[in-house]
Amino acid sequence: MTEATPERTVRLRATLDSIPRYVAGKPAAEEPGRTTYKISSNENPYPPLPSVLQVVQDAMLTMNRYPDMGTVALRDAIAKHFGVHADEVATGTGSVGLLGTLLQITCEAGDEVVYAWRSFEAYPIVVGLSGATGVQVPLDGESRHDLSAMADAITDCTRLVIVCSPNNPTGPAVRAAELEEFLDRVPSDVLVVLDEAYLEFNRDTDAANALAVWRSRPNVAVLRTFSKAYGLAGLRVGYCIAHEQVASALRTAAVPFGVSHVAQQAAIASLAAYDELDERVQALVAERDRMLIGLRDLGYPVPDTQANFVWLPLGDKTLDFAAAAEAAGVVVRPFAGDGVRCSIGEVEATDRLLEVAKSWSSRASR
Ligand SMILES: *Cc1c(COP(=O)(O)O)cnc(C)c1O
Repeated sequence: MTEATPERTVRLRATLDSIPRYVAGKPAAEEPGRTTYKISSNENPYPPLPSVLQVVQDAMLTMNRYPDMGTVALRDAIAKHFGVHADEVATGTGSVGLLGTLLQITCEAGDEVVYAWRSFEAYPIVVGLSGATGVQVPLDGESRHDLSAMADAITDCTRLVIVCSPNNPTGPAVRAAELEEFLDRVPSDVLVVLDEAYLEFNRDTDAANALAVWRSRPNVAVLRTFSKAYGLAGLRVGYCIAHEQVASALRTAAVPFGVSHVAQQAAIASLAAYDELDERVQALVAERDRMLIGLRDLGYPVPDTQANFVWLPLGDKTLDFAAAAEAAGVVVRPFAGDGVRCSIGEVEATDRLLEVAKSWSSRASR
């Protein structure tokens, strides 16, 4: 039998050819006699809280039923927690799911979406799939959003702007003053989404307060997730706080029953347990600062980070560093030719990474 030539079968959308593949963070290989660490996906290293686990176990008992399609109890809990109205909340299968829906409700083929680059790797994928044209605006020399260049990039075709703060994978958060200045330049019919997946880790006292900005700007929406600080990455649940027109459109376009009952209940329980989760977030922030200072002390030019990861801008040495880390039993996330993102995980993972960074830099400088 000869091999089939797949390109000669059904006719798929041409845009698929130009869509980059999402590269999931590699798992750490199990090794006898040595603990290995996965710091490649910005996950929360802590296991689920017992109180959340109990709720999940109870919720599983009804998995023969569809979940509440309107996610009413979850939207109410989010609304109460953040002081907004439930009509201003939409939920989705992680904030990546909501991003796709945001594209669906804003963009026709050929419309433009402005976002910073390098930023979250899902952006070019969801934008490309929608048929819209992504307009990538390079980060500035400190790996921050160049909001003035982003404002310059807006045209009559722009329908959506994504601002990632803190920025994945580089770390810095957008500041209040620069964001206001930027928003003053964005036409009022262009939706600006503030992707705050790492909000809870942000300690920059100059950072923008996205909810306050959202309240004062009809064309702003805030995108958040239960995947990072709340530790529910595997359950796929995120939310968007938006003005009613946008939130209602998001609910209309949502995948029916996308967010499972288990995920809805876990998210509600996690909001209720946030004080407990916050202790973990604070420990991760302390650990982040230890990793940041340790790497800078070794001479690495690490930009500011307000998230649960640090960025090593290693350029063409990126893959070499990642391989050295993997050999030492700690798996990081390389972006070939650009840099390495190291998530904050276990204390031992930080220790291991700092050891690798030390031996790698002395080897590299020889
Ligand atoms: C992790 C991440 C998300 C959240 O993804 P989920 O789909 O909610 O798991 C969203 N935006 C950015 C920038 C992220 O890094």
